[in-house]
Amino acid sequence: MMTRFPIEEFSSLQTPFYFYDLKLLDRTLKEIKRTARDSRFKVHYAIKANANPGILRYIQAAGFGVDCVSGWEIETAIEAGFRGDRIVFAGVGKSDNEIRLGLEKDIECFNVESEPELRVISQIATEMGKTARIAIRVNPNIDAHTHAYITTGLAENKFGINLEMLPGMVALACTLPNIELKGLHFHIGSQITENEPFVMLCETINRLQDEYESRGITFSSINLGGGLGIDYAHPERHPIPDFEGYFTTFHNHLHIRPDQEVHFELGRSVVAQCGSLITRVLYVKEGTTKKFAIVDAGMSDLIRPALYNAHHKIENITNPNGELHHYDVVGPICESSDCFGQDETLPALKRGDLLALRSAGAYGEIMASRYNCRPFPPSYFSE
Ligand SMILES: *Cc1c(COP(=O)(O)O)cnc(C)c1O
Repeated sequence: MMTRFPIEEFSSLQTPFYFYDLKLLDRTLKEIKRTARDSRFKVHYAIKANANPGILRYIQAAGFGVDCVSGWEIETAIEAGFRGDRIVFAGVGKSDNEIRLGLEKDIECFNVESEPELRVISQIATEMGKTARIAIRVNPNIDAHTHAYITTGLAENKFGINLEMLPGMVALACTLPNIELKGLHFHIGSQITENEPFVMLCETINRLQDEYESRGITFSSINLGGGLGIDYAHPERHPIPDFEGYFTTFHNHLHIRPDQEVHFELGRSVVAQCGSLITRVLYVKEGTTKKFAIVDAGMSDLIRPALYNAHHKIENITNPNGELHHYDVVGPICESSDCFGQDETLPALKRGDLLALRSAGAYGEIMASRYNCRPFPPSYFSE
């Protein structure tokens, strides 16, 4: 299942742009549905990974729910056809307007991250004559072994409620008016490529559920968040993440109660591999010790390398079989961090060659900015 790039069609297009392989997206969505076949499993797409309308309509049509982290994401999801009652809403800083919007749209669940937020939701719900369904976001203090900027489950993190404060929050949620406590929510980080953090998460949840049940409190829903990683180094070898292994881990390790719903919020693993950023080589510049390939895409189009030190596989799609050389592949933006790869081994590059920055479907287009007054990159689809 190789993404094929229509080079002839590309040659007439203005670069840079995002290209999405919808066949791969389709296969990915089918694989998620196949492997999440336990009827208690509910998969929400984390819209912050990519909110391109063409992508969203596809995911919506496949029957997924959605995970939002802002009111604007809720609006975007509803425009794309997602139903309010399939929307869950997380975020440490929900504004009053965003809370009101969520209540108006009768969203499935607010994932609550602090005590003052819980009180404000109760107050606004009471004013509106609505009941807010909520889950408490728990910070389980698990090291997801991922980049410091994308780990979210450690104790010193801004997200969620730590374990010591959880009993107070549960008690409060049970007493505040117009609040229905559905369960607990977790999201321990992103680009997690090992099983162990997920197993530890299950063990923590099992312990918590046993504890609460002994005090007569049961949860109708457990939300495990997202975080499943992808293979950035080998997009061709692993175009579809190991969803089978991922869901099996939870199936085997989580003590799911009868009638309990288990929610997942997958972002990156759904969309990353279907997207590439296509860019053109502007100049090949000889330095004293290096060769620079200066391309027309920059950190304004794809910020992950500059922001997280991430690496996207680079392919010369114009001349895939040329003699190999070493290049630093850099963008045109006036920042030294505007670099897509150092000492990349690539088939000989010349002015005008098209390069694909692979695995750019998640946290790519959506994080684009207008830095240097550059326009947002457009997007094209394989169909
Ligand atoms: C970002 C985020 C996700 C999705 O994370 P991925 O690593 O892209 O799967 C899920 N849940 C919440 C609350 C998030 O903030």
